[in-house]
Amino acid sequence: MAVTGPAQATTNVSVPGGVPQIVSGAASDGISVAQAGHRLIVQNNGDVVVPAAPCVAVSKNQSVCPAAGVTLIDEAPRRSRPYLVYGILDPMSEKIVDRRAVLLAAGLVAGGVLLDGGPARGLARPSARRPATPDEAWAKLREGNRRWAADASTHPHQDLGRRAEAARKQEPYAVVVSCIDSRVPPEIVFDVGIGDILTVRSAAQTIDPLVAGAVEYGPAELDTPLIMVLGHQRCGAVTAAAHALKKGAKLPGHLQRIVDDLRPAYERARGDVDRMIRINTTMVVADLKAGELLAPRVARRKLKIVGGYYSLDTGKVTRLV
Ligand SMILES: [Zn+2]
Repeated sequence: MAVTGPAQATTNVSVPGGVPQIVSGAASDGISVAQAGHRLIVQNNGDVVVPAAPCVAVSKNQSVCPAAGVTLIDEAPRRSRPYLVYGILDPMSEKIVDRRAVLLAAGLVAGGVLLDGGPARGLARPSARRPATPDEAWAKLREGNRRWAADASTHPHQDLGRRAEAARKQEPYAVVVSCIDSRVPPEIVFDVGIGDILTVRSAAQTIDPLVAGAVEYGPAELDTPLIMVLGHQRCGAVTAAAHALKKGAKLPGHLQRIVDDLRPAYERARGDVDRMIRINTTMVVADLKAGELLAPRVARRKLKIVGGYYSLDTGKVTRLV
């Protein structure tokens, strides 16, 4: 019993009495679902595997799902392209415990695959609990950035289930304040998804009252425990400001506002652009910490405000403060 069809197809599987039965399904590119006793086996021989947490992509087309209840049944080359076979089993009873996760684990969520057959039991979705403390939130961002830097992103929380969950309520665990630079999108560099982080972006992550209000929204209204201010290597805004300040030139339009804002960092860095990027980031952290709405939260340890530096070359974020 196999299902094959286009990646956008819907596959319905019911599990009466714990035995999966594929009710209907359309063909999918390189993806098949087959039944073997109590096991639902998913094969993916496509070019890219995008597994949901807790699966970890180890290369563009190979993933491992190490969580309890997830068993790698087989892994072997097929034709000239690699493929993966996953089944999710209850390790005690060998019954499928999370029917939906079977296909999530194989990256089939992108195909809009649905499994029916009563409420799933046993295997909690790994995404269910958001990091509650500043340190947990930072650890989560750091983990995601390590995956991104290692070309092992798992693209968590980018599926239909998460969209439905987040449509009812959002509980982002971090505010990332970063530059507008097209090479530094926070959701990608921290490998997070829908509902995970609030992002506030401005040129060289400069802050004015309107931007500060946007940053404050998460901690004040949603109890978000972490603010990360993220500067980055070869920041164009900082570089342009440094040049303008060196020449004493005025930039047109509102661009001069950015230059004015970066002047203290320029003076402290003595014109060195990379130092200026790091100094500006730590100054933004200090400004936010001093804000009257956020300062008491920081003092009560409900909130941490940290600064980081993103390397365009390596993809890594290093903590500055
Ligand atoms: Zn920048």
